[in-house]
Parts: sequence; C-alpha cells; structure tokens
Amino acid sequence: MQSRREFLRTAGAFAVSASLPLDRIEPELILYNGNIITINDRQPRAEAVAIAKGRFLAAGTNEKLQALATGNTKKINLEGQTVVPGFIDAHTHPAEAGLMHLRQVDCDLRSIAEIRNAISERASKTPAGDWVLGFKYDDTKTSDGRPLTREDLDAAAPQHPVYVSHRGGHTAYVNALGYKRANVSEDTPDPAGGRFDRDPKTGKLNGRISERASEIFEKAIGANYSRADYREGVKLICKMMSRVGITSAHDAWGVHDYLRGYQDAHDAGELSTRIYCMMHYSEIDRMLAAGIRTGFGNEWIRVGGMKMAADGSISERTAWLSQSYVGRPNDFGIRVMTEEELYHNGRKAHEADWQIGTHANGDRAIDMVLRVYERLQRERPRRDPRFRLEHCTVVNDSLLQRIKSLGAIPTPFAAYVYYHGEKMREYGPERLDHMFALRSFLDAGIRVAPGSDYPPGPFEPMMALQSSVTRTDVNGNVWGPKQRITVEEALRTQTLHGAYASFEEHDKGSIERGKLADLVVLGRDPLQEDPFTLVKIPIERTMVGGRWVFGA
Ligand SMILES: [Zn+2]
Repeated sequence: MQSRREFLRTAGAFAVSASLPLDRIEPELILYNGNIITINDRQPRAEAVAIAKGRFLAAGTNEKLQALATGNTKKINLEGQTVVPGFIDAHTHPAEAGLMHLRQVDCDLRSIAEIRNAISERASKTPAGDWVLGFKYDDTKTSDGRPLTREDLDAAAPQHPVYVSHRGGHTAYVNALGYKRANVSEDTPDPAGGRFDRDPKTGKLNGRISERASEIFEKAIGANYSRADYREGVKLICKMMSRVGITSAHDAWGVHDYLRGYQDAHDAGELSTRIYCMMHYSEIDRMLAAGIRTGFGNEWIRVGGMKMAADGSISERTAWLSQSYVGRPNDFGIRVMTEEELYHNGRKAHEADWQIGTHANGDRAIDMVLRVYERLQRERPRRDPRFRLEHCTVVNDSLLQRIKSLGAIPTPFAAYVYYHGEKMREYGPERLDHMFALRSFLDAGIRVAPGSDYPPGPFEPMMALQSSVTRTDVNGNVWGPKQRITVEEALRTQTLHGAYASFEEHDKGSIERGKLADLVVLGRDPLQEDPFTLVKIPIERTMVGGRWVFGA
C-alpha cells in the first residue's frame, strides 16, 4: 500500500512542499547561468533554478541557488541560454494525430501529382479492396490551382476505396469506390449538418464531402486500430511535441480509446506530454455513470471538459459567419449543431460540474454558444465553470463583453496568420482585424489560451509566437495588424493561460517554487530576436517533470 505522503505526491498535491520547508529538500538538479524568463510576476527573471522530485524548488540568482547544492546535486551550466516554462497547447488532437501519422498517407505535399503518387504507392502495398487513407491534404497549398477530385483518386488507386481528409478535418475527398462502400450514390440526399459536394456544371458528385457527411464514411471505414496502435500513436506524437517544446496538450476531441492509449503509453514510460483530455459529448453518459468529472486524474493524464462543435472550420472556409465569405455572397458557412442540441448536452455536463468547451469559429456560432452558456449559468449558477470557446476566431465588441462577463476562455489559432495566410483573402482584411483577436482578448482582461488544433494547424510554439507578434504570413502579407501582441504577452498566453484553461494554474505555466518542473531551453532569446525570425529559434532541450524528454 502507498503511504499517504507517496499518494499525495503522485496525486500531484505536492504535500511535501506544504509540510516540509523546501530548503530542506536536497536539489537533485540545478540549472545555472541561464536567462530564465519565469512568467511569474513576483520574480520575472532568474539566473538559476533548482529541481527535486519533478518540481521546482526555487528560482533565483546563481549565488543563492548554488548555496542549496549538496554533494549529490547535479549541476548544468546553461552558458547564458534562455529558458521558458514548457509550452501548453490548449487545443490539439494528439492521440488522433499520432494514429494518423502511424497509419495514413501524409498528404502535406505541394502538388496533386505528388499526392497521387503517394496514394498510389500506399495502394500498391495494401490488399485490393482495403481502404487507403490520407490526411493533411490542403487545397490551397498545392501548385495546381484546383482541388483534388474523385478522378484523381480513382486514377491513383482504382482497386481501393480512398478517403483523404483535409488538413482542417471538416472536409474530405473520396473516390468512386469510396462512395460505393459508403452506399452514397448520385441520388443520396445530403445528411443533416453535412454535404456531398457536386460539380457546379454537371451536378455530379465531385469527390468532396463536408462536415457531418464524414460520419457516413467513418462508419464504412470502421476503426480497426488495436490497443497497441493507440499506444504507439501516442508515443509518436509525444516525441514530435517534445521536440518543439510542448510539455502539455489539451486533447480537444477525446474518446475512451484515446484515454486508454494515453494511460498505456504512460505505463510504458512513453508519455512525455501531459494530457488534459476533453471528452467528446457522445462519451458523457458513460463518464457520468462512472462518477467521473472534469479534473479526474493526475498531473500526467487528466479528464478535461466536455467537448461539442457548433460550426465549420477556418482553414476550410466553412465557419458560420454573419457576413458572407468574400467572393461568395450566399455562403455564410455551416452550422454543425443546433442551439437546442448544444443546450441539451451542455446541461447534463454543467449540472454534473463539468467544464464545457465548444468549437465555435464564426461570430454567429460564438453568439449561439454564448447564449447556451449564459442560459446554463442563469439556470444553475456555478462559481467557476471556466467555459471554453474553442477557436473563437471571429469576434466583435459585444461578443468580447459577454466572454469577459462569463469568465470564458477562448482558445484561438495563434499560428494561422503565418501559416494559413493564403486563405485569409476569403475573410477579407476588415474581418481580419477581428480574427484570432489576441490583442482584443488581452485588452478586455480575458485569459486567452491559444491552441494549434494539430493536424489542422502546425504546432510549433515559435511559429505561433512569430504569427501573433507580427501578424504577417509567409509571403509577407499583413493580416489584422491591430491584433499584434508582444513577445512577452505571447509567451504568457502559451504557458500560464494554458494552465488556467485546464484549472492547473497552481501546478503549471510558470517557473516558480512548487510547480511542476516543465521547461524549455531555447537557442536564442525571443525578447532580443528580430520578430520576423522568431520561428527560427531552435529548441535545444525540453524537460517535463524534472526529466529531459528532448535534447539531453
Ligand atoms: Zn480541434
């Protein structure tokens, strides 16, 4: 049986810090001669940090910290390198992305010919009749000036049903055999909340499907992953995230298989990224029956809020907007769930003290979700529900007011201006002044916590930094310059605010006594860097819980 002290320690309560003076715990490790940006207002900078039992014992001057060392303390000279708290990606899909990298064709390629070749090659190694799956296709990133078609996929793999999902995850492309497997023909009506897209000239199915039409194909494909696959996928994605300095990730569409995958990876010593797992709303009844609610778990794997989705995607230009897309006067995007559906599911979660996070990109979707949250709070007021607005892309003054008064947390895309710049024309420069609105959120006193949404967005924190500081895309176009924030502000949103979004601000997000020893060593100081080269700052080392998980 565990002793009480051990239990508290593993439960993350760090009872040791409360009962024993920290100075009496021997530091296991001291990092010194560093330029440590702590994100702790009481002590913004430090030269050295002492670590024991996976936590920070102290931060301060070289002299003061060296004095804590004993004969058993390991010391590392940082030689002036910059250290920041571990990055927290407040909205991403780690388990799902890991599985995709494990099993699917990575279609992040720059021409349709390359994509066809990659699909063809995978088909040649796949028994005829089995699905060939692709991911991370992006219609605006190929040189062809046209999207993928069913004919492309038929030519690439005539003997296989093919399903290639868009990087954004809200649209996909299928071939003739794919339609057949899913029992979709020219006469099949569009499903609720989804669309089988058609060629505008011929009226025939063109291979593209949108939003909830994907559910029909997912059913036909059938998840055939083994328990070991989930673990392998988690291991793979953790390596990728550790390499760029992410130490915690919020899974924004969790299901029970993912939870098990995270735990299996943890048991095997392969989990190097802490997970806050927001559960898909279809899982809520089971979770409630088991008596589980938000916060259940430990500092490695924690059950997060319940997740729903209200509208389409920014990168695929299906977000639900009050003003139409530029050049498409009748297109206002897609609403995915009705207000009643959101309320019905939301009430169950809210009454059982769950946090709720709802995907809402367009201003119309955000307005609808806020109405649901406001109603839930009116009917059953809770002191600190920390409602989340996932993405929360297009805002205005009245939405900002309501977000502030609810104490809700937006999790916007911080790297999109830089990475997805070519798509911004369809939103137009005026609207861009109110999109990914980090400046507005901070000015309104809203604790904004950005997320990559990987795979839809790249997850490199340095790219998010450059994008939010410069609001400039890869080609030098500026989008929504009013929303620029400073490097220091951007660092805070990606660390301390991320911790707040998961109720873990006492445990994470800054380098200070008692918090988990999660940190990143950078090749250069972002505060001294030219804002236009922030993305190039190398990540030298990543530490999680006092252990190097990258670059040691
Ligand atoms: Zn997402």
